[in-house]
Amino acid sequence: QTIEIATPKRTKEIIQKHGFSFKKSLGQNFLIDQNILNKIVGAADLDESKGALEIGPGIGALTERLARAAGPVTAVEIDQRLLPILGEVMEPYPNVRVHHGDVLKLDLAELFATDFASVDKVSVVANLPYYVTTPIMMKLLEEKLPVDSIVVMIQKEVAERMAAAPGSKDYGSLSIAVQYYSMPELVCVVPPTVFIPQPNVESAVIKLKVREQPPVQIPNEKHYFEVVQASFAQRRKTISNNLKARFFTKENREQADQLLEQAGIQPARRGETLSLQEYATLSTVMWEAGV
Ligand code: SAM
Repeated sequence: QTIEIATPKRTKEIIQKHGFSFKKSLGQNFLIDQNILNKIVGAADLDESKGALEIGPGIGALTERLARAAGPVTAVEIDQRLLPILGEVMEPYPNVRVHHGDVLKLDLAELFATDFASVDKVSVVANLPYYVTTPIMMKLLEEKLPVDSIVVMIQKEVAERMAAAPGSKDYGSLSIAVQYYSMPELVCVVPPTVFIPQPNVESAVIKLKVREQPPVQIPNEKHYFEVVQASFAQRRKTISNNLKARFFTKENREQADQLLEQAGIQPARRGETLSLQEYATLSTVMWEAGV
């Protein structure tokens, strides 16, 4: 009878057997808790007709659960030392493929075309390395891959920022970017004690249901996100002052407030109070005025 990888006993055994040492710089904190795995895999709502992409399988704690719950499973691991371990522990699971590489450098569209050709739906499910959470998430969302949902363990603060509503202290350009592409939902908060070694921060599982259509109409995505970025450049400044600093010169600064009024936004408001729709209206008005 095989014991689950995500237990303190088996994890320690595997690590000792292979003489593996953790690399902090790669965000290596391995899960050793079955309850948390149940929550992650449950939130991903998998079955054999669906594919799963895992980023950073480690020694396979989550991978083996995905292998049992989903159809094809592809895992991308940057640390070469883990490949022989994964080869061994994933032996019983012919539906698992492990690729060696940095997910940020990988051609994901190509990977999807090869590994997930047989399925209609793919979920990304991962206990992410925290040092690269945001670039990985933005890559997954911006590349408009055929991804249905993303269920990930990340640092709690980052999860809160992703899911934050306008007006809250956590709301910022990350909230808007994530909510433009998806509908986030916090699944649970996770203490450091469920990992070996324990991270210094609290974690959370978050589920992003990827949108088929953006929630707002805008003339140009790049412009929209530039307006958003600029509006949060200095959180304590008004939106008017932030926009002036980025888009206007001494000569045309008063146009900033005119455009804000035209978009129905009081110039004295702060960027953190504007909804995705208000940013859409603002971006449209500015774009049409050639700003
Ligand atoms: N999934 C395992 C678990 O839950 O126990 C390990 C999770 S650990 C938090 C993150 C994993 O991501 C590590 O195995 C690490 O080597 C890997 N990793 C770090 N940076 C990566 C990158 N850029 N691309 C792919 N994998 C990466």
